[in-house]
Amino acid sequence: MKLKWKPEINSSTVDSGRGRLSKNIANILRGTYKSLCFKKLTLVIIPDATNQSVVRFRIPHLAAYIAAACFSVLMLISISIYFVHAHTVKQASDLQSKLSGVNQQWSATLSSKNEAIELLQNEVIQLSQQAEQMKTQVEEVKKLESDLKTIAGIDHEPSNVAVASNSSVDKAKKDDNQPIAGESPPSTGVGGSPNPVSQDIILKLGHDTLASFTALNGEVQALQTNLTATKQKVADKQEQLRITPTLWPTSTKVVTSPFGYRSDPFTKIPSYHSGIDFGAHENDPVYATAAGKVVSTGKDIYHGNNIVIEHAKGLRTWYMHLNKILVNKGDSVEKGGTIGLVGSTGRSTGAHLHYEVLKNGESVDPKPYLKSIRKDDN
Ligand SMILES: [Zn+2]
Repeated sequence: MKLKWKPEINSSTVDSGRGRLSKNIANILRGTYKSLCFKKLTLVIIPDATNQSVVRFRIPHLAAYIAAACFSVLMLISISIYFVHAHTVKQASDLQSKLSGVNQQWSATLSSKNEAIELLQNEVIQLSQQAEQMKTQVEEVKKLESDLKTIAGIDHEPSNVAVASNSSVDKAKKDDNQPIAGESPPSTGVGGSPNPVSQDIILKLGHDTLASFTALNGEVQALQTNLTATKQKVADKQEQLRITPTLWPTSTKVVTSPFGYRSDPFTKIPSYHSGIDFGAHENDPVYATAAGKVVSTGKDIYHGNNIVIEHAKGLRTWYMHLNKILVNKGDSVEKGGTIGLVGSTGRSTGAHLHYEVLKNGESVDPKPYLKSIRKDDN
């Protein structure tokens, strides 16, 4: 008998194949489980000493695999921690470098700011000193203005300028700083213990200095106004002096016959003397007593050689008995200009000058007009 196997491909055959596959897988899993759970590895520790026993450890395969897995995980974590740590250290180093750079920049900036503050503080001190100097200078200008008014004969008026500092003290300070004549100027050396001032004091000094400059600005403006007014007054006064016959007509002040009633020098009878006689040497210069215009020159038996000069405000001056006339009619003459020479022409007993002042055509006493001689330049 011959058997011949012929596979039949039907549903029962397929089911039979699947069952065998599941069985094989189950066998493999069972074998693997047995291998992991029941097969063991033996770890032997052999000591160097011969009298000590060998130690054996039997470890299931599963425990070995778990230990290997745990070791691998721990290694992976350690490596990760190492790289994270290295990265963090690098970042920290970079940040430290940046921080160091920024710190250096701030240090440089702070140093620069401190230098600028010190410079400004020193400038505040210098400005404060300049303000004190300006106060002294304003006081000196006020004194000059007062002297100018005194010299010009202008009435003093209350000044609008009031400098806060004590002028006499400032003047005393200034005098103390002046070198004594004949001595070499003192050394400019300075010194002293270091006494740095606080920022609050510097700020107060700056505030006070600003207030001083503000006050000085107003004072200088007021002083400028006063000086302008004084300048105008002086100019008016000068012009008034120029056109008013205040000058003595001769170099001397010898009055030989005053204005008014007297005994006539020729007839000895009471008479009226309409001017002042000045004793002088023949050919002494005769001066115009004010600026004006020569309106008359001539000669007659009474007045001799004579000159009449017209001035402002209805005033005329008359110069008589001249030895010589040095101007012509129509000439403009300046105050103090030489117009003739002393003589004794006309009705005269000797060399002298008869001088008259006429106001609106009437002879008046010349004496109140006479203020100065020619060498005073008035
Ligand atoms: Zn006379």
